[in-house]
Amino acid sequence: MTEFHYATDSDGIATLSWDVPGKSMNVLSFDALAELDAGIDAALADDRVKGIVITSAKKDFAGGMDLNILATMRDSAGGDPAKGIFDGIMRMHRILRKIERAGMDDRNKGGKPIAAALPGTAVGIGLEIPLACHRIFAADNPKARIGLPEIMVGIFPGAGGTTRLVRKLGAMAAAPFLLEGRLSDPKKAKSAGLIDEVVADPVAAAKEWVLGASDDDLVKPWDAKGYKMPGGTPYHPAGFMTFVGASAMVMGRTQGVYPAARALLSAVYEGALVPFDTALRIEARWFTHVMMNPSSAAMIRSLFVNKEALEKGANRPDVPDQMVEKVGVLGAGMMGAGIALVAAQAGIDVVLVDQAQEAAERGKAHTADYMDKGIKRGKATPEKKEQVLGRITATADYNALKGCDMIIEAVFEDPGVKAEVTQKAEAIVGDHCIFATNTSTLPITDLARASQRPEQFIGIHFFSPVEKMNLVEIIKGRETGDVAVAKALDFVRQIRKTPIVVNDARFFYANRCIIPYINEGIRMVAEGVTPPLIENAAKLVGMPLGPLQLVDETSIDLGVKIARATKAAMGDAYPDAAVDEVLFWMADEGRLGRKAKAGFYAYDDKGKRIGLWDGLAARYPVAADQPELPEVQHRLLFAQVLEAVRALEDGVLTDIREGDVGAILGWGFAPWSGGPFSWLDMIGAAHAVDLCDGLATLHGDRFAAPALLREMAESGETFYGRFAPAARAA
Ligand code: NAD
Repeated sequence: MTEFHYATDSDGIATLSWDVPGKSMNVLSFDALAELDAGIDAALADDRVKGIVITSAKKDFAGGMDLNILATMRDSAGGDPAKGIFDGIMRMHRILRKIERAGMDDRNKGGKPIAAALPGTAVGIGLEIPLACHRIFAADNPKARIGLPEIMVGIFPGAGGTTRLVRKLGAMAAAPFLLEGRLSDPKKAKSAGLIDEVVADPVAAAKEWVLGASDDDLVKPWDAKGYKMPGGTPYHPAGFMTFVGASAMVMGRTQGVYPAARALLSAVYEGALVPFDTALRIEARWFTHVMMNPSSAAMIRSLFVNKEALEKGANRPDVPDQMVEKVGVLGAGMMGAGIALVAAQAGIDVVLVDQAQEAAERGKAHTADYMDKGIKRGKATPEKKEQVLGRITATADYNALKGCDMIIEAVFEDPGVKAEVTQKAEAIVGDHCIFATNTSTLPITDLARASQRPEQFIGIHFFSPVEKMNLVEIIKGRETGDVAVAKALDFVRQIRKTPIVVNDARFFYANRCIIPYINEGIRMVAEGVTPPLIENAAKLVGMPLGPLQLVDETSIDLGVKIARATKAAMGDAYPDAAVDEVLFWMADEGRLGRKAKAGFYAYDDKGKRIGLWDGLAARYPVAADQPELPEVQHRLLFAQVLEAVRALEDGVLTDIREGDVGAILGWGFAPWSGGPFSWLDMIGAAHAVDLCDGLATLHGDRFAAPALLREMAESGETFYGRFAPAARAA
């Protein structure tokens, strides 16, 4: 055995210790599954073995399943992929059920106790295996994460986790773990009933328990006579309410576009009505159903496989390690303060510079506030706060930048101010220091003109709020060199965010795509499309915020500023006069968005959104004829997607994986689709071109299919088929 090590001790306890060679985290593979099965068989058959402990030789138990297993199951079944998945899942059920029954007879006698001992993190299948054991011991390790996060990548726990957790906790209590993928530390996991004990030495405690366990300790509630599901089954008066509510909640949250959430709910509902083993079969069938949905494959590819590949440096130039030790952050405003916080949290020394000492201190206070909130919520300690704050030097003195190996500039969005701070910083720092700008609109190549070392000048574009948003866009100017790119990527890895690397062009990638989305929404207002239709169409297609809510959040005056700058740059070619009409009028009316408690939406005194603003119709009357929902949805989707295709055509994007991952993490592009390129592959280039032709006829050239899309429609290609090299594709 190479993945599970089998050993017996003098007390008659067999230990199966998981230790995938050459990896820091255990991930379940086909081989590991077979070894676990064989180990359990051996222990159950050996008369000298009294009980079994399943544990890990690593600091964590397991990070889940190698999701490629699922693809292998599907692909290896030839003409019947659904059967391949179903059979594969049923095999897992049989193995885990064997652990659960542990050799017991029909009267629940004669089994051997099996305990799980978790040294650290146990997620996904890493918790589903323990859930099949008779008792779960976890180390008192606050950093450990315990839970079932499958829903986050478009599937649901399909190795019995769904059925077992619902029967253990009841549907209501299991909901946050199954439907939201909530992860908990061991203490919270214990109080929620996910695991049984939190101890200093889980293996020792598990062994002790195994030696003392009685026959009754081995019987799961659902295998005992008279079992009743906590909270009630669907036809029980109490359970009925839970299930009615859950359906509404899931539809409300997912708008019906995430197949996994619906399938999970069906598996839970139907499973609750039948005996345990039948419920497992139902779970397997719904799981197979989800796996056969293209949305799941696309979500797994973007949110798991490709996201991880980008984080590991898929597009990093081959230069030595460029880890950042001391970063200078220029400008301690909203963005600078956030950047200082995430860098200090990652253990990097920060010099936070602003024009005046008080301004720099204000920026540093953001970290103190953030850590205080963390302390209140039990996520940080006062010591940790001091440690993080201790890494930030707030100052107005540029000389303090001495020794920095990277500078990130987040001063006002003004080329003159940016040029001045670039020169001031470069006069202090050493020759090898990389200079990054966090500009959101100014071309990197132009800003680099102020630098003595344009090959060391780069864009690192964060999204607001920095501490929450996981995407970082790295922008190469015309002269940016490999070392600067590697440095930016290493920094992003240090602060545990996801990078994409793009070339320099107006609005880079994310803003380039999101602005047309907002503009399309505003354009519809001008045309008399009723605002609730615009907003709901967006949500029903999986966008987290409708375009009007989004512009309220980012602020109308920012929209005005961007429109003015774009118009100045484009001159007569500027296409958005109809949008500006609405936007500028809103600004003149003082309806600047959420910060002004007045925008396309109305807000109460506390700034809470209370509904769409009813005054809009006086200026932009609602037309008698309203478009059909799909037309509105297609306008909103294609406004973004065509821009992504153009970014690829123009060479701004060089990797479609970045286009997809960046879209979901950067602006929340319908995650169920796997991103704009995955969505186009899903509907097919030919159909996409047909839809574009229709939209272009009705609404103008902005919907004209780009040449690349037309070419792919003719040749029948897909984006992932053509642009993702086989070795890199999921
Ligand atoms: P902000 O106005 O909150 O902060 C700018 C800070 O820079 C202020 O504290 C100001 O005092 C300081 N500053 C100005 N001149 C300086 C100088 N010579 N030396 C040192 N400090 C100086 O602005 P912000 O929203 O944090 O944006 C900063 C940059 O980040 C801009 O380039 C902006 O386009 C970009 N950006 C903003 C967002 C966003 O959502 N706000 C998102 C991405 C990028």
